[in-house]
Amino acid sequence: MTECAVVALVIPLDRAALCVACDAVFELTERCPGCASEHVVSLGRWLSRDGDKSPSP
Ligand SMILES: [Zn+2]
Repeated sequence: MTECAVVALVIPLDRAALCVACDAVFELTERCPGCASEHVVSLGRWLSRDGDKSPSP
C-alpha cells in the first residue's frame, strides 16, 4: 500500500529568499542551498512587505 506523499513547503515571505544565480526560492540562509551562491535576495525585503512606511519620492 503506497500513499502519494505530498510535501508542502511553506515559507513565510519575510523568511523567503531568492537565489539570483539559480532562481531557486528557499528559506533565508546565508548561501543558496542549491548552488551555494551567496547572491541571495530576501523576498520580504525586496517586496517591501516589512513596513508600510516606505517614503516614496
Ligand atoms: Zn542558487
